[in-house]
Amino acid sequence: MNYRKLGKSGILVSEIALGCAAFHGLTQDETDAFLDYAIGNGINCMDMYTPDPDIHARIGAYLRGRREKLVVQAHFCTAWRDGQYVVVRGLDDVRKSFELMLDNSRLGFVDVGMIHYVDSMETWRQLIDNGVVDYALRCREEGLIRAFGISSHNPDVARQLVHQGVEVLMFSINPCYDLMPSSVDIYAMAERSSYEGSALCLDPSRQGLYEECLQLGVGITVMKTFAGGSLLDVRKSPVDRTLTPVQCIHYALTRPAVSCIMAGARSREELDACLAYETAAEADRDYAVAFADFPRIDWSGRCLYCGHCAPCPKHIDVAMVTKLLNLTIAQNGAAETERGHYAALDAHAGDCIGCGACEKRCPFSVPVMKNMRLAAQTFGL
Ligand code: SF4
Ligand code: SF4
Repeated sequence: MNYRKLGKSGILVSEIALGCAAFHGLTQDETDAFLDYAIGNGINCMDMYTPDPDIHARIGAYLRGRREKLVVQAHFCTAWRDGQYVVVRGLDDVRKSFELMLDNSRLGFVDVGMIHYVDSMETWRQLIDNGVVDYALRCREEGLIRAFGISSHNPDVARQLVHQGVEVLMFSINPCYDLMPSSVDIYAMAERSSYEGSALCLDPSRQGLYEECLQLGVGITVMKTFAGGSLLDVRKSPVDRTLTPVQCIHYALTRPAVSCIMAGARSREELDACLAYETAAEADRDYAVAFADFPRIDWSGRCLYCGHCAPCPKHIDVAMVTKLLNLTIAQNGAAETERGHYAALDAHAGDCIGCGACEKRCPFSVPVMKNMRLAAQTFGL
């Protein structure tokens, strides 16, 4: 298992992490067995968005005496009513529900405390006005959460919020949703009709969000990696094509700032399909050719950081150089961190001999040689 830092929080997480879909209706023994299996395979992080008190109690019981085994991401603003998950926004409801989670689980603290489902600035203003944001920040001061986060599906909203002290962002990332402008809400993103009509291209506000998170040190934990499963099933796929779980995971993990994907696995078999990423060959991870075959989508010119153009005879990591170049352009000049990452690369854009092999292999017509010249000028190497 590979581990990544969760942005500036410094928390180390397994790049394949767990959602909580598998835990509904399990016994304690079944919960223990599933967690043993996940942890035994290197997973050290899970999202616990559910307010189900029974799940909190079972996961807490498993972790008693071994709390360090799991980084737990829990959510403010979810509550359990009549056996159902509901979203709550009032301070009393939020506080009661969060305290209940800590009591039931007896965890003592959670690693990431995340304000749930902030998809509009009206919601955010409401959460500030009624004291929920202050409450979450107080929880951090008191050590009840180690890092403060939000979850969102809207790139414009998330872009504004990551500048307001957020350390972790949970965001929906997959190649279909990345085609959707921010005006399309999460329910419409699942509809085939949203992808019909004129040709689509990658939405710049989503790409901008990931780049800004990287600059700001905001770690991204990913939800909806498989678009709710529809990218794995041609009958449901909004683009009439499917990807494998490994390709979807590789797409998410190659976006800037992403630390881990929360695998919403409901069974050991589904978890195995995600864990297979860790041992998959590069050819099996490669999503470039599959993307190029998506109909009605214009990927041209924009680097997806897929690495399909490798190998370079001068050992230039084209995907990484292009990512650092785009980050630099986005912030109008190279920041020290990008310069540091660039300098540490084994080979630099200045080593490019213009052989053109990368451009022949790139399915998205990215002008790699031009980008290498620009990177060499920008970074001076
Ligand atoms: S240049 Fe093309 S093939 Fe290479 S990483 Fe970018 S998109 Fe992928
Ligand atoms: S054109 Fe430059 S970056 Fe591309 S493969 Fe050749 S040397 Fe490498």
